[in-house]
Amino acid sequence: METVKVIGAGLAGCEAAWQLARRGVPVDLYEMKPVRRSPAHSSDLFAELVCSNSLRAVRLENAVGLLKAELRLFNSLSMQAADASCVPAGGALAVDRDIFSRYITDRIESEPLIRVFREEVKTIPEAPCIIATGPLTDGELYDELSRAFGEGILHFHDAVAPLVEADSIDMGIAFRATRYGRGEADYLNCPMTKEEYMAFYEALVSAETVPLHSFEEDPSVFEGCMPIETMAQRGPMTIAYGPLRPVGLTDPRTGRRPFAVVQLRQDDRAGSLYNIVGFQTRLKFGEQKRVFSMIPGLENARFARYGVMHRNTYLQSPGILDDHFQWIDRPGIFFAGQMTGVEGYVESIASGLVAAVSLAAQLRGRPMPDFSQKTMLGSLGSHIAHAGGKLEPMHANFAMMEPLEKKPKQRKPDKLGYSERSFAHIESHRSEFFE
Ligand SMILES: Cc1cc2nc3c(=O)[nH]c(=O)nc-3n(C[C@H](O)[C@H](O)[C@H](O)COP(=O)(O)OP(=O)(O)OC[C@H]3O[C@@H](n4cnc5c(N)ncnc54)[C@H](O)[C@@H]3O)c2cc1C
Repeated sequence: METVKVIGAGLAGCEAAWQLARRGVPVDLYEMKPVRRSPAHSSDLFAELVCSNSLRAVRLENAVGLLKAELRLFNSLSMQAADASCVPAGGALAVDRDIFSRYITDRIESEPLIRVFREEVKTIPEAPCIIATGPLTDGELYDELSRAFGEGILHFHDAVAPLVEADSIDMGIAFRATRYGRGEADYLNCPMTKEEYMAFYEALVSAETVPLHSFEEDPSVFEGCMPIETMAQRGPMTIAYGPLRPVGLTDPRTGRRPFAVVQLRQDDRAGSLYNIVGFQTRLKFGEQKRVFSMIPGLENARFARYGVMHRNTYLQSPGILDDHFQWIDRPGIFFAGQMTGVEGYVESIASGLVAAVSLAAQLRGRPMPDFSQKTMLGSLGSHIAHAGGKLEPMHANFAMMEPLEKKPKQRKPDKLGYSERSFAHIESHRSEFFE
């Protein structure tokens, strides 16, 4: 069997390498860390989570919940790692990022069919290969991709939220709860009065931000990862109805709903770090300390990491990639991960899986597996290949899937119908996916 080169041992690349090896395909996996690092990566481990530690909702009524369930049916390495490293997060799957990455690194490094090369790849490899170098792809490989795709390669900006040390949070003020008391009380909540909120808002919108680099001159941002100060600039109450909304929360000190609430979510298994939910930012570090210390309960907070903002590069995939993430003009070369225009950790993992399962079939001389728009996995591939107009990176959502038929007397279809149909499709196509 021909060896496949997988470039980038991030979320997509590791899942792809693992799925190929599971199907008996030998892999040469190239990772540039620690020789070179992007501005957002800091550890030498594979599958590094660069910002939030959340893999988002678990419920099957949610599209990303369904996507994770499908990944589990394919024995996803990333889902195994998530289960081995999860931390409490209400209805979400959140992980200790170090345990998560270490688990994946160990499994990849001990897999006999995978050879790991710690080196930077500077040119587009020959087929068969999967390029999964992520949204921060730069240097000589980026230049070559730009030459190959011209205006088919784009970028915008993503931001990262700060982390605070747990023992520096004032628990006389912050209280533990989930909205409406649903599930375990996994979040720390910092309550604000109206006066505290208005003072915080004024400080936030007037604080100094980091100037954009020359390559980042287009200041457009992705809505789903918008800096908190940019959101605040839309109006005094915008963040009070957004990440600081207090609904479903009661301050035990007053017995009342606060005017606004800043939520913190556990970031590591030891519970020593918390991230400030929704507070991705590009404020200067000194300004983050000054402004975020105005949040009641965080007056003396120690910041383990400040928020930062980074470029996010992706392909304008419609017309360039097919539904299986394969380069239409150069068969046998696949792309995977955020650089294909999918958005998010789980979606990046999923694209790596689809690319690998498809490439493994191709190497065996079989037809491409039919993921179809009945599965969330297939719907992601279909979205990036066929989205009309300009492709905007997008999280998994049910609108990407083939619509469900309404049952008689139903006003709208039951969302669980998506998962029932998806699982049935995967089961009936077992031989294409798993043999
Ligand atoms: C700053 C930032 C914050 C983000 N925050 C979130 C978030 O909170 N939640 C979320 O769901 N998504 C987030 N994303 C989006 C996205 O889900 C992640 O970036 C995710 O890690 C993408 O997975 P990937 O496999 O495509 O890329 P990555 O995980 O970045 O992996 C790419 C790998 O390729 C390696 N590499 C790059 N170039 C080369 C080369 N030339 N040769 C060899 N190796 C190379 C890199 O070192 C890296 O290990 C964020 C993105 C950015 C940029």
